[in-house]
Amino acid sequence: MSTDLGLPGLTADTAGSSGTGGFAEPSPTAAALLLLGRGSDPDSERGVDCPGDLPAASDPGLVERAEAARAKLGDRAFVLGHHYQRDEVIQFADVTGDSFKLARDAAARPEAEYIVFCGVHFMAESADILTSAKQQVILPDLAAGCSMADMATDQQVDEAWDILTDAGVADVTVPVSYMNSSAAIKAFTGRHGGTICTSSNAKRALDWAFTQGEKVLFLPDQHLGRNTAVLEMGLGLDDCVLFDPHKPGGGLTPQQLRDATMILWRGHCSVHGRFSLDSVLDVRDRIPGVNVLVHPECRHEVVTAADLVGSTEFIIKTLDAAPAGSSWAIGTELNLVRRLALAHPDKTVVFLDRAVCFCSTMNRIDLPHLVWTLESLARGEVVNQITVDEQTAHFARVALDQMLALPG
Ligand code: SF4
Repeated sequence: MSTDLGLPGLTADTAGSSGTGGFAEPSPTAAALLLLGRGSDPDSERGVDCPGDLPAASDPGLVERAEAARAKLGDRAFVLGHHYQRDEVIQFADVTGDSFKLARDAAARPEAEYIVFCGVHFMAESADILTSAKQQVILPDLAAGCSMADMATDQQVDEAWDILTDAGVADVTVPVSYMNSSAAIKAFTGRHGGTICTSSNAKRALDWAFTQGEKVLFLPDQHLGRNTAVLEMGLGLDDCVLFDPHKPGGGLTPQQLRDATMILWRGHCSVHGRFSLDSVLDVRDRIPGVNVLVHPECRHEVVTAADLVGSTEFIIKTLDAAPAGSSWAIGTELNLVRRLALAHPDKTVVFLDRAVCFCSTMNRIDLPHLVWTLESLARGEVVNQITVDEQTAHFARVALDQMLALPG
C-alpha cells in the first residue's frame, strides 16, 4: 500500500516494501536542489559558507562517523532536532520538538557543555539566551537562517516604532513577537513592555497584551497575528492593518495606525505561505472526507477553509489521536508530514500541496554538516558557536519571561 503525498515522485510506502525507507526524493533539478538546501538563495538566507572541510555527502561511512563522534562526546553534548529537520539528522537527536521546547530542554541539561542545535539561527540564539554561560550553542551550518525572521531587522523595527510614536500611538501599543524572530527583535519586545508568543499560546499573549495597551504590534508573522486576532479573538479583518517596512510610513497613514487594533508586520513563512485555497479545494476533491489540518502560519483563507489549525505539537497529537482509516491533509513542512505518514500507516496522511515544500534553510543541516560538527567538538574544536551579547540577551529574556508568566 502506498500513501500519495501529493508530490511527483514522493510517496510513503506504508507496507515498507520499497527498501529505501519508503520515499523517493524529487528529481535533483536545480530548483529541487535549492529547496533541499544545496543551492543558495541570497535574498532570504543569512549566514556564511561552512568554514571547515565537510565530508562528502556520498561518504558511505557518515552514519558510523556520526555515531563514533557522538559516543566520544557522551553527556558533554546534547543534540536538539527541530521537527522540520531531515530524517538523516533527526536520527541523531537526543530530543525533538519545536523551537521553544528545544531551548528549554537544553536549559534543563546544564551538564551538557555543547548544545548542538539542528534547526535554524533564531532557535540557536534562543537556546543561547536560555542556557547557562558555561554552555556553548552550536549551529551545524551558519547558513541555516529563517526567511521569516529575516523579514524584521532591528533597524526596521526601531524605525517602525518611531513612526508609531509620530502617529501618537506608541504609548498604547504593546509589541507581541513570535518566537520565530531574531534575538534583537525579542530584545526590542522586552524593552517596550511586550511579550514573546509561540503558535500554541498566541491567543493568551494577545489577551494579556490587550490588558496592557489598546493596540498590538505583531512581529514578524502577519498570518499568525491575523489568524489569532480574527479567528480566536473575534476581531474583524478591518481591525488589522499591514505595516510594510519597505514603504514610507509602513505604507499606512497616521490615521490608519490610530484606527487599527492589530498592526501586523509584513512578514511570512516562505514554507507555510505557499499553501493556497486551491490546495485545500484540490485535496478535498481528490480525497473525499479528508480532514484538512494546517499550521497557523498559513494564509488566512487557507486556515479559514481548513478543518483544524494548530502548532506542530498540535498536529502531531491530533494525528496520534486520530482513528484508524481516517484521512488527513497536512499543511506544514514536508519533512514532518513525511514522518507522520510513515508513523501512521493505518491512516491516509497526505501533504496539502502538490508542490515540494521543504524549508530550504532547515534542510541546510544535513548529515555531512552534523558529522563535521560532532567530529570537531569531539577533538575539542568549537565550531559555529552562536552567541547573543549580554544586553540583547537580557531584554530578550525579559520578553521570554513575560511569555512564561502569561495567565493560564
Ligand atoms: S519553516 Fe518557515 S518559519 Fe520555520 S524556519 Fe523555515 S522559513 Fe522559518
